[in-house]
Amino acid sequence: MPPAPARSARTGHCLCGSVSYLFDAQPETVVLCHCAHCQRHSGAAFSVNVLVSRDALEIKGTPKSYRTVGAENGNLRDRLFCGECGTPILTILHERPDLVIVKAGTLDDPTGLEPSAEVWWRRAQDWIEPAPDRTRFDGDAK
Ligand SMILES: [Zn+2]
Ligand SMILES: [Zn+2]
Repeated sequence: MPPAPARSARTGHCLCGSVSYLFDAQPETVVLCHCAHCQRHSGAAFSVNVLVSRDALEIKGTPKSYRTVGAENGNLRDRLFCGECGTPILTILHERPDLVIVKAGTLDDPTGLEPSAEVWWRRAQDWIEPAPDRTRFDGDAK
């Protein structure tokens, strides 16, 4: 069998298009985050986080940034969003500067990016059923 063709780079953008990005690397993992900050920032029950090598990501435009401090562990997060339309786009993890989180909802084509784990499970909204094929962590993944 010939090797599978290399997947082309993935692209994404905010609602208004002022901020866009491209990455040309297979994501490290995809994780659902139920933490209180992700719930509030996204306005949703959880965020769908695609972890990508920082070196592989190119950003076009100038997102605004808001820093959050984890109430339980002090972890710093720079949450990048579009200053025009407010779309959350990227998150920088201070303890993992080699990675950047891409918010899956901003991808032009999220095909094939199935989450393998869920973090901050103890903060999950009570109607969410555990999925048997995803690893769950009470807090941040170890
Ligand atoms: Zn925008
Ligand atoms: Zn979170």
